[in-house]
Amino acid sequence: MKVSIVGAGIAGLSLAWALRKRGVDVALFEAGAIPNPISSSFDEHRITRHSYGSMPGYGALMPSAFATYDQLWADLGATHYLPTGMVYVSRTDDEWYARGAVELDRLGVSHRQLGRDEIASRLPMLRGDGIIGAFEAGGSGMLFAQRIVTDLARWVGENGVELHPHTRVSEVDPEAGTLVADGVRHDADVVVVAAGAWLPSLLPETADRLVPSRQLLLYLEPPAALAKAWSEAPIIVDQGAGHGAYVLPPRGGTRLKIGDHVFTRRGHGDDDRIGTDEDVAAVLGAANAIFAGFGDYTILERKVCYYTVSADESFAVEPIGGAGWLLSACSGHGFKLGPLIASGLADAIVGARDAAGVPDWAAGR
Ligand SMILES: Cc1cc2nc3c(=O)[nH]c(=O)nc-3n(C[C@H](O)[C@H](O)[C@H](O)COP(=O)(O)OP(=O)(O)OC[C@H]3O[C@@H](n4cnc5c(N)ncnc54)[C@H](O)[C@@H]3O)c2cc1C
Repeated sequence: MKVSIVGAGIAGLSLAWALRKRGVDVALFEAGAIPNPISSSFDEHRITRHSYGSMPGYGALMPSAFATYDQLWADLGATHYLPTGMVYVSRTDDEWYARGAVELDRLGVSHRQLGRDEIASRLPMLRGDGIIGAFEAGGSGMLFAQRIVTDLARWVGENGVELHPHTRVSEVDPEAGTLVADGVRHDADVVVVAAGAWLPSLLPETADRLVPSRQLLLYLEPPAALAKAWSEAPIIVDQGAGHGAYVLPPRGGTRLKIGDHVFTRRGHGDDDRIGTDEDVAAVLGAANAIFAGFGDYTILERKVCYYTVSADESFAVEPIGGAGWLLSACSGHGFKLGPLIASGLADAIVGARDAAGVPDWAAGR
């Protein structure tokens, strides 16, 4: 059997990995380099965690997602994960901990509430005024995304995947399993489209429900007085009246980063990557609301990236035609679930699981 994959982000690369492990011949087509520095998967870090709050279906998948990453570390010969724990800070919702605790207990993940004194001594970088509750959960940390896709690219290349970097696919025929790239037709038994925020160009019929979203991240240099506290800090999620921010501390050779979980629902993977004042406004507002003395931080980089979002933030893994699949991570959990979802799709492609059940499973239903 031969499978062609369009797109070498975490979705396409981990599908190539999973298919090769199942003995399938794979050709991987990528418009840029492999890995591609402008793909959504290419960034210093991504968060992984067990708790999913309003999306319990994904919480239930997370133990398997962690186990799949363990298989990946074994194949790559390196672990690109740092367990840091996560602190959830609420400035609006005093029921957050009670709700989160129910899910974490169900998953067997440790958690505890943080008092004001501990917040002040351990997390001096936070503005204490306005915090109405905070709790810490285990089973979470950072995935070093760039290192993962770089090593995956090496692994698939060394393990027989036919790589086509700098090769933009202009057409797919999911009934025939074929595609056209640079004017050349490539045949396979199955074609999988894992095109991230470029998806509407290839499958325009998905454009109204899988919507590219331009997102902004700020990389920061903390003031020297806080360097030690930051170097030991957990990931922080801070929920306020005007923000839902996430902060990744500068650990494991990475830089401090802040983003805001608000979708712009505009843009396309081919759009510019220039972070304008308008782009940064929401994240700057969040940083000012969260960090004590934000004026003392240096902004190192305004990073623009694009991912697709769906109405309920679920993965779209769907058969298209008689010999094709769409594999689209949606929203901010595509990296942590990428290898697991790709492995499930690989099982369906080789007939090791019921293909009809894959869309609901991947959507966390
Ligand atoms: C700001 C931000 C924060 C995030 N935070 C998290 C997080 O904390 N945790 C988490 O799990 N996830 C997070 N995500 C989501 C995660 O990064 C994405 O869901 C995931 O990386 C998407 O992977 P992908 O392979 O689907 O797409 P991409 O990585 O974008 O890869 C798609 C690739 O397809 C290629 N391509 C497209 N069209 C063609 C074509 N026609 N021919 C050839 N090649 C083509 C592109 O060049 C690109 O390289 C975040 C995303 C962003 C933007």
